[in-house]
Amino acid sequence: MIQFIDLGCLDPLSAGIKYGTAAKASIYKNIETTYLRLKKIGIDEETCLAEARQWADQCPADYLTEIEGLAIGSAARVEDIWLLNFRIEIAQPRQADLLARKKDTSIITEAPACTLFSIRNEDGYLQATGQNLDGLAAVENCLVVTRRLTETGETLVSIQEAGVVGPSIGVSSVGFSLVYAGLIMESCKNRRDGTPLRAFFHRLLTQKSFGAVMSSMLESPPPYAVASILNGRVENRVAVVEFLGEGVTVRHSNARIETHANHATMPSATRSLFERHLPDSLQRDKRLALLLADSDKIDTEYLKNALSDHENFPASICLHPRDKLAPIRRASTLCGAIMDWREGILHVSDGRPCHEQWRAFKIPVT
Ligand SMILES: [Zn+2]
Repeated sequence: MIQFIDLGCLDPLSAGIKYGTAAKASIYKNIETTYLRLKKIGIDEETCLAEARQWADQCPADYLTEIEGLAIGSAARVEDIWLLNFRIEIAQPRQADLLARKKDTSIITEAPACTLFSIRNEDGYLQATGQNLDGLAAVENCLVVTRRLTETGETLVSIQEAGVVGPSIGVSSVGFSLVYAGLIMESCKNRRDGTPLRAFFHRLLTQKSFGAVMSSMLESPPPYAVASILNGRVENRVAVVEFLGEGVTVRHSNARIETHANHATMPSATRSLFERHLPDSLQRDKRLALLLADSDKIDTEYLKNALSDHENFPASICLHPRDKLAPIRRASTLCGAIMDWREGILHVSDGRPCHEQWRAFKIPVT
């Protein structure tokens, strides 16, 4: 069950302690799973900890302070909480290397995938954005929804794995939202430095306007290949962004529908590896675009059904774990999320969107 934690306007250390205390059991489960999944791609515990420390050195102080609070609240080692927060930076160069060296094009069944969308209404105004957030089935029920109040009165709501500070999905009361999906390019073999991805999106979520988001984003992009759909409700803006090793590509969009999955779609000097080994990425992207284009009357129920779609099952938009795989290799949709801008409500499914309950979180968009 997704846990909701209200962090109010606590300072980073107190917020971390409250979050860590409330989500202790899920944090332990996530730590245990993270060591197992990194071991599976050849990274031992000693290397994990050494690299987590290096990434911590590149992380903003307030983010590290909240991590410290999380360690106190959950009674875990601070190094283990670093690992949860910097896991993707540690894993991506190895995953890219493994995939680039792979001679065949066999499918990587355990690769977590995500499918993103943004939709405007018939008058061209932003209606909704969201995604299916996929991950290892082993961390099902380890998601948390946090709500924070900033010093200047904005509300920030985000969804992330327990123990992680920065959002996987984030919405703020200034009308900004972010959703993103991992990419893997050949260039990801080369480790890059910079603000870790979760801390990068944590910073974006606190920006006061869409213009400020764009400036902040381009000033110091993350050292991780990722695709994102960003919404500015007040400015009625949509940007589809791909952050790659060779640079950031931004496509501002007036289209009614935007979708994105796990393959790069914009010109790039390096090869995208996901579509070779995760071909369902192409299908999920096209399928969601088709579903959203197929009706001129789209409401939240319609979007919930689109995120519950099972074409190409089990590698469908709603991803189901494959029983034949070892538990640590099974991927699954962990939740579906839809930010309905018309009503100012973030809808989140408590597990896979096809059969779990949906919960609603009010976001007072100003
Ligand atoms: Zn399903």
